[in-house]
Amino acid sequence: RFIVFEGGDGAGKSTQASLLADALRAAGHTVLHTREPGGTQIGEKLRSLVLDHGQGTVDARTEALMYAAARAAHVEQVIRPALAAGSMVVCDRYVDSSLAYQGIGRALGEDAVRSINDFATGGLVPDLTVLLDVAPADGRSRRTTGADGAPVAEDRLESEPDEFHSRIRDAFVRFAAREPARYLVLDAASDVPSLTAAIWAAVLGLPDG
Ligand code: C5P
Repeated sequence: RFIVFEGGDGAGKSTQASLLADALRAAGHTVLHTREPGGTQIGEKLRSLVLDHGQGTVDARTEALMYAAARAAHVEQVIRPALAAGSMVVCDRYVDSSLAYQGIGRALGEDAVRSINDFATGGLVPDLTVLLDVAPADGRSRRTTGADGAPVAEDRLESEPDEFHSRIRDAFVRFAAREPARYLVLDAASDVPSLTAAIWAAVLGLPDG
């Protein structure tokens, strides 16, 4: 089973992905918990290239291709082998992030971004995508304040205005509405235990096989 977490910056994806990975392990599954961009050596390098302010501007097409390249490596080297070995794969962000951020946010067009990602993934689609739907202002306050209350630096796209994040949010909600059977949409403002419970129920409800 391949389970993906999607949603805007500051939605709480990594928290919920970790909790799900822990719960699956406690239930006796072998779990691969990974993230995009990243998850492989080349992917982590691309992540720092594309997210690092110091690298100069990365234009939108280059950015989209870099995310797609990182994803191709991730799918080929990490995700497919884990699925083939019978692991549960929990991944923080996947193709929908590219459709939303590069396709809609950067206005490259959803179809163009989908086609490079179909090539990159060989058509691997998650069994379940959990969308943590976050209002841009909430996401901003969560990602700019650390657990200790101290300010946290934002990366390239995080520092975009709320209007950018609103378009991303609407795009994610639209993707989910198109394929309701494959998505679980949750309000990221809900408390952590109730989100965890809703996600666990959806995972238990996945068809066998
Ligand atoms: O969620 P995470 O911190 O891993 O995301 C890193 C950054 O990459 C975020 O600012 C997100 O907006 C951006 N991103 C992106 N396009 C993707 C995936 C992530 O712009 N396809």
